[in-house]
Amino acid sequence: VAEVLAETPLVDHHCHGVVTGTLDRAGFEDLATEAAVPAPAGTTYLDTQLGFALRRHCAPVLDLPVHAAPSAYLSRRAELGGEEVSRRLLRAAGIGSYLVETGYRGDEITGPADLAELAGADAHEVVRLEAVAEQVAATGVSAEGFAGAVADALQRAATYAVGLKSIAAYRYGLDLEAARPTAAEVQAAAGAWLAEAERTGQRRVSDPVLLRALLWAGVDTGLPIQLHVGYGDADVRLHRCNPLLLTDWLQAVQPFGTQILLLHCYPYHREAGYLAHVLPHVHCDVGLAVNYTGARSVAILAESLELTPFHKALFSSDAFGLAELHHLGAVLFRDGLAEVLDGWVADGAWSEPDAVRVATMIGRGNAERVYGLAD
Ligand SMILES: [Zn+2]
Repeated sequence: VAEVLAETPLVDHHCHGVVTGTLDRAGFEDLATEAAVPAPAGTTYLDTQLGFALRRHCAPVLDLPVHAAPSAYLSRRAELGGEEVSRRLLRAAGIGSYLVETGYRGDEITGPADLAELAGADAHEVVRLEAVAEQVAATGVSAEGFAGAVADALQRAATYAVGLKSIAAYRYGLDLEAARPTAAEVQAAAGAWLAEAERTGQRRVSDPVLLRALLWAGVDTGLPIQLHVGYGDADVRLHRCNPLLLTDWLQAVQPFGTQILLLHCYPYHREAGYLAHVLPHVHCDVGLAVNYTGARSVAILAESLELTPFHKALFSSDAFGLAELHHLGAVLFRDGLAEVLDGWVADGAWSEPDAVRVATMIGRGNAERVYGLAD
């Protein structure tokens, strides 16, 4: 399995761009944690599973010994420059296609085309639903015109994007009502939100009716929809990010044929596996969790393959900002999946041809099918 995965160009079905400028210690640590504030005085966010995995796997790509000290790593990083570091780490990741979500801090990181060039790979765009709503609001749209303007913007997005993404989990929680809101409900909620945005200058959409309207508008495009689930930064209320909260909505969407991708899922990856098991249009990954659990990611990968059908599991890094995270996502995924599947072959539980076939499906084939990348 390890040999086959080493030769398989992965599809990273959910990631973001990189910062190519030079980063100081504080800037680097800020991108290597989901915490919103610096580590307490005298401590470092590199004293984590992610930090140790980073020093283990990324240091050699910068010509340093494995486990190089953080100070040595950061001075070598500064010496090479952010662009060269990104180029090296991305090119050594073995990722053939990046599906890049562009709706978060897009002005600070590379877009899909620049990421593709740095990596020497393909890139496709994934559009964030909430960002579309906020862009529509910035045009001065009326409450009556809001739903139509969002639908038009999403139709335009569908001409170039391969998927959509929802961060309803961040803005409200996944405990949304299932049904499509009525036109009157959307208009009333849009009116209240647009008036507040006018008053405060803040256009952050968090009204549950609007978040639900955006999800249904996404369903209408026919594009696959990614949903943030589980672990994330300090903005989430993790107890409201359990994907089981979405069960009724997922069932309501099923007749429309839209493919749903539950992202990250940790620590609810077993719950996500259940949903992928019983609902034909639901898929999941453990991206982000693999990076942040480092040496323990082997166990997470194994757990993610308990109930999830093998044609429903995908690879992603959810890397943002640091090319180290794209690199680590790929390396830890390959190493971890190979260890798990080769172990099952050694036990006699799986045949080797099945293990190789499943590894290729998870690393690439499932994403190609769900997003129609081969077309
Ligand atoms: Zn993401």
